[in-house]
Amino acid sequence: MSPPVAPLVEIFSSIQGEGIWVGCRQIFLRFAGCNLACSYCDTPRGIPQYCRWEARPGSREFLLLPNPLTAQEVALMIRKLEPAAHHSISLTGGEPLLHTSFLLELIPLLKGTRQGIYLETNGTLPDSLERILPLVDIIAMDIKLPGTANINPCWQEHRAFLKLARGKHVFVKLVVDEDSKPEEIERALDLICNVGDIPLVIQPVTTPEGKTRLNPEKAITWQSRALEKLTDVRVIPQTHKFLGHL
Ligand code: SF4
Repeated sequence: MSPPVAPLVEIFSSIQGEGIWVGCRQIFLRFAGCNLACSYCDTPRGIPQYCRWEARPGSREFLLLPNPLTAQEVALMIRKLEPAAHHSISLTGGEPLLHTSFLLELIPLLKGTRQGIYLETNGTLPDSLERILPLVDIIAMDIKLPGTANINPCWQEHRAFLKLARGKHVFVKLVVDEDSKPEEIERALDLICNVGDIPLVIQPVTTPEGKTRLNPEKAITWQSRALEKLTDVRVIPQTHKFLGHL
């Protein structure tokens, strides 16, 4: 049987720009393809012919590798990016959980970072998460507000996903903008606190120029409301956009 392969957009070293591990140095493995189509998505939708690989960590000099790649090929490229200098390896996308067979083969080959494997996910594929859960250390999970993302509701999937993820270092990310519906934010808060007292990051939609689409008063109002139900609630925009990083 031929080994599982996956299409990747890029493999590079940079600084985590979102969530409660913001500022940590990570190796990013960006998978192509997603099961959702959020209106604010900044990831190209197509499957690229080549994966960009940053041959020297942080150099922004990329070589092109033909897609799809095997787990052994990806592990070799990651080893050359000096895992020991990094907090963790971020599996991101797109949606990395579309590639679980590949991840089952890849993750055991990824050694040497300080904190292990960091999964960034839209939180809608609980069956896939269950398959790789023992191999993951940190989970950054979205709860999608249907009105803000302009997609169908995923409440049931999110609930099942968060129940599985709560055994790990997990936090939830809620992307909001000026027009986010208060009733959807309330529903997300109820969903989270019914599963557990899980850290929440309210993430204002951030433009490529580094401007947020949420006025500070509203951010503070929603944070206060969330703090009535949860202990750890932070407002953090996508900082890599104004740092000028990838
Ligand atoms: S889940 Fe993420 S990658 Fe997928 S469409 Fe939404 S923002 Fe883009």
